Amino acid sequence: MNLILLGAPGSGKGTLAKNIQAEFGLIQISTGDLLRQAMSVESEISDKLKSYMSKGELVPDELVLEILQERISQDDCKYGFILDGFPRTVPQAEALKNIAVIDGVILIDLPFDVIEQRIAGRRICTSCGEIYNTSSYDKLSCKKCGAPLYQRDDDKLETVKVRLEVYEKSTAPLIDFYSDKLYKVNASGSPEDTYKAAKTFLIKLEK
Ligand code: AMP
Repeated sequence: MNLILLGAPGSGKGTLAKNIQAEFGLIQISTGDLLRQAMSVESEISDKLKSYMSKGELVPDELVLEILQERISQDDCKYGFILDGFPRTVPQAEALKNIAVIDGVILIDLPFDVIEQRIAGRRICTSCGEIYNTSSYDKLSCKKCGAPLYQRDDDKLETVKVRLEVYEKSTAPLIDFYSDKLYKVNASGSPEDTYKAAKTFLIKLEK
C-alpha cells in the first residue's frame, strides 16, 4: 500500500507518518528530510538547496524527483511507503504517476493560525528525528534516545508565513487532483486522535 500525506507545513504529517509506519510497516519518505540530508553534505547542490529551503521556497521539481526516485527504488520500499511532503505541486503529482501507484491520500486539516503556533513550538531530535512540541514537552533532550533537540531554521515565523503561502498556491490544488482517493482527517486534537481517524481509513483501504 502506497500513501500520500497531504497537508500544510506543520500540520503533523511527520508525526502521523511515524505512527502509520510503526503499526502498518509502511516506510516514511519525507522529501524535506531527504533534502536536508543532501544539504548537509557540502557540494554544489547543497548550496543550491540551501538557497531555496532557507527562504521557505520549493526546491525545483527535477531535483526533488531525482532524490525521491532514488529512495523509492530501495528495497525496503517494495512493501509500501508513505510520502510525507511529496508531491507539493501538480507537475510533481503528474510525474509521480510514472513512478508509483498511489492507493490513498490523507489530507490533514488544521487552521493556519493553529499551525503557526504549533510550528513555533516544534523541536526535533538531532539523532532519531522524534518530533516534540514545547507545549507538551519542554526539555532540551530527546525522551527516546537522549540526544539534543533543535529547532529547524525554516520554522522561524517569517519563513513559516512564506511556506504557508506556497502551500496555498502550489500544493492545495492537489486536493482536487486526488479527490477520488482523498480522506480528510481533522488534526485539531491530539496526535493520537489524528492517527485514530487515519487508521479507520487505512483499515478500509487494506481490505
Ligand atoms: P518539509 O520538511 O516537508 O516541511 O520541507 C522543508 C522544505 O524542503 C520545503 O520548505 C521545501 O523547500 C523543500 N521541499 C520538501 N519537499 C519538497 C517537494 N516535494 N518539492 C519541493 N520542495 C520540497
